[in-house]
Amino acid sequence: MTANPTGSARFLIVGPQGSGKGTQGVLVAEAFGVPQVATGDIFRANVSGGTELGKRVQAIIEAGDLVPDALTSELVRDRLAQPDAAAGFLLDGYPRNRGQVDDLAEFLGGRGEGLDAVIELEVPREESITRLHDRAVKQGRTDDTEEVIANRLAIYERETAPILDVYRAQDLVLAIDGVGTLDQVTQRIFDALASRGLIAQGSGGNGAAA
Ligand code: ADP
Repeated sequence: MTANPTGSARFLIVGPQGSGKGTQGVLVAEAFGVPQVATGDIFRANVSGGTELGKRVQAIIEAGDLVPDALTSELVRDRLAQPDAAAGFLLDGYPRNRGQVDDLAEFLGGRGEGLDAVIELEVPREESITRLHDRAVKQGRTDDTEEVIANRLAIYERETAPILDVYRAQDLVLAIDGVGTLDQVTQRIFDALASRGLIAQGSGGNGAAA
């Protein structure tokens, strides 16, 4: 089979906090040779860099609330307009609600593009809470306190999980069991993508890194 016959690799990775989507997203993006665009990382870099954007979003992020859609969607639009995202991208943490789903569809539609797959990482709530607490100890993220974690998970369940219905209706969702070793989960993702004819270049039919 030829590598990725559609030629494009426009992916979303969606999952609750602590699902491992950041880690898996990087591996998928690398395998397909597309940039990983993680809105949370971009916001955090702006906060630590003390930029204007960082000053605007700092309090919102520390409370675990969502940055306004207009600001977030503009940031993503600008990032996806960069040349390295012309043939594809992996978005992590965006879209996160219905408004952002619509913004993304409008932007991509305007370019005559569409998504190729939405990777849904399924992890039970208890497991994600445990992982987040472990991460809080290791990384010291200011939004990894008990109260803020609860807020972020509640927003995920209320606003983000429902966007999967939109993508399910478009037959884009690949539901992946996110419980297992990192390698097992990675393999499940590449197998699911391959089942849609989405095969990473130079992977010999298996997108997992050697
Ligand atoms: P997590 O998924 O663990 O909450 P992220 O790194 O994806 O972490 O996001 C961190 C914070 O950045 C969010 O709590 C929110 O304040 C902000 N953020 C990230 N992506 C978005 C988005 N698409 N829309 C609004 N706010 C966002």
